[in-house]
Amino acid sequence: FNTTFSELPTTVFETMSLLAAKHQSTNLGQGFPDNELEGPASMKELVNSSMYEHSNQYPQLMGLPQLRQAVAAHSERHAGIPVDPQTEVLITVGATEALAAAFLGLLNAGDEVIFFEPSYDSYLPMVRRAGGVPRIVQLQQPNWSIDAGELEAAFSPATKLLVLNTPHNPTGKVFSLQELQLIAGLCQKHGCLCLLDEVYEHLVFPGHQHITLRSLPGMHDRCLRIGSAGKTFSFTAWKVGWITGPQALIAAVTKAHQFIVFTVPSAIQRAVAFGLDEEQSFYCGLGEALSRKRRLLADQVAALGFRVLPAEGTYFLVADFAGLLPGGSQEDDVAFCYRLTAEAGVTLIPVSAFYADRATAPRTLVRFVFCKTDEKLQTACDKLRAYF
Ligand code: PMP
Ligand code: GLN
Repeated sequence: FNTTFSELPTTVFETMSLLAAKHQSTNLGQGFPDNELEGPASMKELVNSSMYEHSNQYPQLMGLPQLRQAVAAHSERHAGIPVDPQTEVLITVGATEALAAAFLGLLNAGDEVIFFEPSYDSYLPMVRRAGGVPRIVQLQQPNWSIDAGELEAAFSPATKLLVLNTPHNPTGKVFSLQELQLIAGLCQKHGCLCLLDEVYEHLVFPGHQHITLRSLPGMHDRCLRIGSAGKTFSFTAWKVGWITGPQALIAAVTKAHQFIVFTVPSAIQRAVAFGLDEEQSFYCGLGEALSRKRRLLADQVAALGFRVLPAEGTYFLVADFAGLLPGGSQEDDVAFCYRLTAEAGVTLIPVSAFYADRATAPRTLVRFVFCKTDEKLQTACDKLRAYF
């Protein structure tokens, strides 16, 4: 039989976590919080009790009414954007499925999709599998700024969609109002839709603010916003997400959702609805707690010789290791991460994995994740200090 399958790659997160397990290293690679930091016990108890009651048969295709209601209230409370829970909210299997359903539901063959690089690793392969044509614009170091000319040049009459991830994985960048205004102006000029990956909306450090592109003048009717209970409650295994937006766009995404998963486990939806309404202090406190952890990690890795790049949110820290290489070494980020796992016992993510083409990707950047206990962060720093 024919074994020429799709050219989908293996995600770097699985590769690096398997490598970490093999070497029993301290895993600061794949982004998931330590058990000690995960969300409210009240929500876990609700999942358990719901299983024994009335949560064991297919819930509605678009999601449990009480979760859609809670997502709508959350949208109005935190983003100032009211949405109709009946027609403008779809509950998904994590943000991952929301992204896939959006690409499959919105794109026709040949539609062009603009996104920034580095980018979350599912965008490129999933846009392509949905028939879209990626038009990638590189963010410029050290502040991951936008070159306005390059962004403008990426638009064409075939541009259907722009994908924007803020706060941004892997850099931790929170896009400024000025940058959002630039993007908004171009999207309106060229008449395209916007898919906003805002899974880290609450993971913003004190003194900074997450602004959704959907709140800017002229953007409301063209934007879809994606959120994730995995990030909001530090329950990455729960795989509940949501997408909100204008009715016609949500209807198109729902068409794809019905044939991918149809619906999402009820007991977990029930608990997320409760959490969004009743456990606001958990997710509203994430930014402050994480900024302290970032400092703990940043100070120590900087002292080791890494050049730490600035960030305003998320639980990711990007650093340049060029200063740690012996003179003349050509070692790239992938080789460096393999060596560090095997020899130092610390696993990181090579940033080139967030680029379409390794030839044009930065060669000496790595991503650390710091949603870990202080003890684990300290252990990783101690291992690195002993090694270098
Ligand atoms: N988008 C971004 C930017 C992410 O970092 C992630 C990783 N969790 C996702 C989407 C997927 O989220 P989920 O775990 O809810 O599927
Ligand atoms: N979003 C997480 C990260 O960037 C990983 C998600 C996944 O493993 N699919 O590390």
